[in-house]
Amino acid sequence: MTAQEESRDRVLIAGGGPVGFTVAFNLARRGIPFTLLEGGDKIFDDPRAGTIHPPTLEMFSSIGVSDEMMKQGFIVRNYQYRDRREGVVADFDLSILGDVTPFPFRLMLEQHKLCYILRDMLKAYGDHEILMQHQITQVEQDASGVTAHVTTPDGPKTFRGRWMIGCDGGRSQVRKSMSVDFDGFTYPERFLILSTRYDFAQHGYAITNYIADPQEWCALFKVPGNDGNGMWRVVFPTDPEASQEQLFDEASVQARIQGFNPKQGAYDVVHRNLYSVHQRVASSYRDGRLMVAGDAAHINNPLGGMGMNFGVHDAFNLTDKLASIWFDGASHDLLDLYDRQRRTVAQEYLQRQTIENKKNLEQKDPEARARFHDELRAIVADPAKLHPYLMKVAMIEGMARAQSIT
Ligand SMILES: Cc1cc2nc3c(=O)[nH]c(=O)nc-3n(C[C@H](O)[C@H](O)[C@H](O)COP(=O)(O)OP(=O)(O)OC[C@H]3O[C@@H](n4cnc5c(N)ncnc54)[C@H](O)[C@@H]3O)c2cc1C
Repeated sequence: MTAQEESRDRVLIAGGGPVGFTVAFNLARRGIPFTLLEGGDKIFDDPRAGTIHPPTLEMFSSIGVSDEMMKQGFIVRNYQYRDRREGVVADFDLSILGDVTPFPFRLMLEQHKLCYILRDMLKAYGDHEILMQHQITQVEQDASGVTAHVTTPDGPKTFRGRWMIGCDGGRSQVRKSMSVDFDGFTYPERFLILSTRYDFAQHGYAITNYIADPQEWCALFKVPGNDGNGMWRVVFPTDPEASQEQLFDEASVQARIQGFNPKQGAYDVVHRNLYSVHQRVASSYRDGRLMVAGDAAHINNPLGGMGMNFGVHDAFNLTDKLASIWFDGASHDLLDLYDRQRRTVAQEYLQRQTIENKKNLEQKDPEARARFHDELRAIVADPAKLHPYLMKVAMIEGMARAQSIT
């Protein structure tokens, strides 16, 4: 085998976010060689995903990763749906899912810590490279493989692989190199995330809270934070006309958070971040030897904490199928099944649920709002309604639906 042929005999992974590292670990543990190309010089630690749902924990448990996740994260058995003026509307107890999952709760753990855990566990395996500061600029494919053109601090380089998996986020270069569309829409408003060590639990808030309001809804949740002692994040919608400078201004930040929960003295706001929010799904997750997973394949608003979880589910599904092709000579058509299974549920569950979550939180019609709140009260009061409801929002139903697609 020539050096060039040898270099082809691997999988290229674009992107070292949570989905890229999940793909990487799943390939490594099966003995499939890979090169992971990440544009950044480190794993990004901006405040994004912090909520991990039961099926995701089950998957990580099956490959020996969940123990470390549980050690670093904390368990949330209930979450609250609130009205900003009226207080608690419904308190959802996830323990009722104990009959269908060994993890009937949410785990709060920041996504960069999941990346660190996977990166550290990868050290036990050989035959792979993780290359930081390798920004993919162009991708081509031919009958035998894929070529990625990359810029690096040492100049441009090219990499060959048998397959390439684009886990390179919403602006995926891999997806742009495929013949696929990325249809959907972008919300006019951006989401402002403020992080503070102030303990909202003293006011009766749960670890996770969705707080409806026709003027300014918000989401409030607690993640472990850098010292593991807890960091609260408050998410607000913003005025589409406002600049980042105005939104980050100390006085405006204090006014916003004090307006939500007045207290004596200023909040110590540790981080402020602003995100554009989209609802889009790729028209196909596969084009020949190129595949996409995670945000490269689907993006959605963060209400419900589903995007990264969904991307992790993509990663497990895809690497299972790729392993059958790699080792057992299974048909490449399996990769179309990956596309059908995962794209269908992205439309039917991920998009539908997250769009609905936002609509409900910001509902302006008082009658529709009251009706929805009555529905939630009825759900928590009746286990026969609560169980199927939580099966959906805890992402268990979507997994079963994906498996049913052949
Ligand atoms: C405020 C907020 C809160 C959220 N909360 C949750 C939550 O609680 N639960 C949940 O499930 N999801 C949540 N999400 C969504 C979650 O953050 C994303 O779904 C997740 O980051 C997707 O992971 P990924 O690995 O697909 O992409 P990313 O995390 O975007 O990683 C992509 C990686 O690819 C690299 N890259 C990009 N382009 C290139 C290139 N050309 N060459 C090389 N490398 C490249 C990037 O540098 C990056 O490291 C939230 C999102 C936001 C904004």
